[in-house]
Amino acid sequence: TVRTRFAPSPTGLLHIGGARTALFNYLFSRHHGGQFLLRIEDTDRERSTAQATQVILDGLAWLGLTPDEPPVYQSTRQARHAEVAMQMLESGHAYRCYCTPDELKQMREQALAEGRPPRYDGRWRDRDPKDAPPGVKPAIRLKAPRDGETVVADLVQGDVRVGNTELDDMIILRSDGTPTYLHAVVVDDHDMGITHVVRGDDHLTNTFRQVQVYDAMGWDKPHFAHIPLIHGADGAKLSKRHGAVSVLEFREEGYLPEALCNYLLRLGWGHGDAEILSREEAIALFDLGGVGRAASRMDYAKLTHVNGIWLRRADDDRLTQEVLQRLAHRPELALGTVAAHRIRTLMPGLKERAKTLVDLADSAAFLAHPLPLPMEPKAAALLTAENRLMLRELAAALAGTDFGPERIDAALRAFAETHGRKLGQVAQPLRAAVAGSTVSPGIDMTLAALGREEALARIAAVST
Ligand code: GLU
Repeated sequence: TVRTRFAPSPTGLLHIGGARTALFNYLFSRHHGGQFLLRIEDTDRERSTAQATQVILDGLAWLGLTPDEPPVYQSTRQARHAEVAMQMLESGHAYRCYCTPDELKQMREQALAEGRPPRYDGRWRDRDPKDAPPGVKPAIRLKAPRDGETVVADLVQGDVRVGNTELDDMIILRSDGTPTYLHAVVVDDHDMGITHVVRGDDHLTNTFRQVQVYDAMGWDKPHFAHIPLIHGADGAKLSKRHGAVSVLEFREEGYLPEALCNYLLRLGWGHGDAEILSREEAIALFDLGGVGRAASRMDYAKLTHVNGIWLRRADDDRLTQEVLQRLAHRPELALGTVAAHRIRTLMPGLKERAKTLVDLADSAAFLAHPLPLPMEPKAAALLTAENRLMLRELAAALAGTDFGPERIDAALRAFAETHGRKLGQVAQPLRAAVAGSTVSPGIDMTLAALGREEALARIAAVST
């Protein structure tokens, strides 16, 4: 069965490029009825704090990309990495290298001086360890093949090859006994039973060396798929100067996880012209053949558009909860059950206009505001003496009206007609009075959400 993994290094944030890699791994495994695993590559002990790891776990949970097994922590597997290095030593696929740091430095400098890429020259490859200088702790190096080429049949990039003379004998175990990264990844992927390694194409060249480790151990290699990175609008690798990059930032800016996943899926993967895909549809359709080879460009405006679509599809109770949470830090609001009820009632109208949860919360705040209501300048300008007089008469008419949206609508139309006004000339001053703004959902829905008592109180507060 298919087993994929997401293998982030905890850096303190979950980059959306990483989130997309996780999503592709998740969808691919789900599409094939397999498993999606998580490995935390926490060998850099300084950066890999518990907090940095938690950011990744939280981000994945929020995106609904929860692994099927408990995460594997790479740092706990060092003994196993060393054990495999020893096996390679015994089978003759690795050797001890007694070069001192000075010697290696010299080798590097000489190569650079001669205009060659700095490579280890293999000087301990066939040398008798009896020659080892006293007191030097050896590193263990892979005895890499010297002839032929190493080929990676990449599921996205196609066949990618390198002549073996281009690759030197890499260290797999350092002289202090710690594994190198490329070695650890292979041992872990093997032990975790990973069948498909789907990751960013910045790892493509690493794959050659990893393939050599698989071959040295006689292990089956996984399939590889290297997906292009995400770039900013200017074509440079996406970074903070382009805008938000961390999953947490998008969450704070009011994006829904399903919208972010939908957008990231379509960024670099296509299926006909389908733009809006639910998780179920994505699982049914996802394959690696649909992944493009070119870098994709992050388009924040498009993401916002997709978010608006998902907001309109989202459940009103859930959105109400989100809005209440986002309004909770505003001390001027009265966020009791009454406000919650009003927001929930108006939610179908509110979400039609919002692009993010931040917009949505802003547009709902007036429902929770005690009197007096703050007035936008444009709204205040509508409350002329003449309009205030009209509002007083309107209040009298509404006092006897049943407060469902349809009755309100009918009452407003009748009122406009008898007063020789267009509906908008009634509705706009009324909206200003009850919402403090010139924009809100339909005035009938807005009044109904406030309820008669509150609506009349708001009108009275500005017209008497
Ligand atoms: N830990 C690596 C990273 O964060 C990923 C390694 C892999 O997927 O093999 O970029």
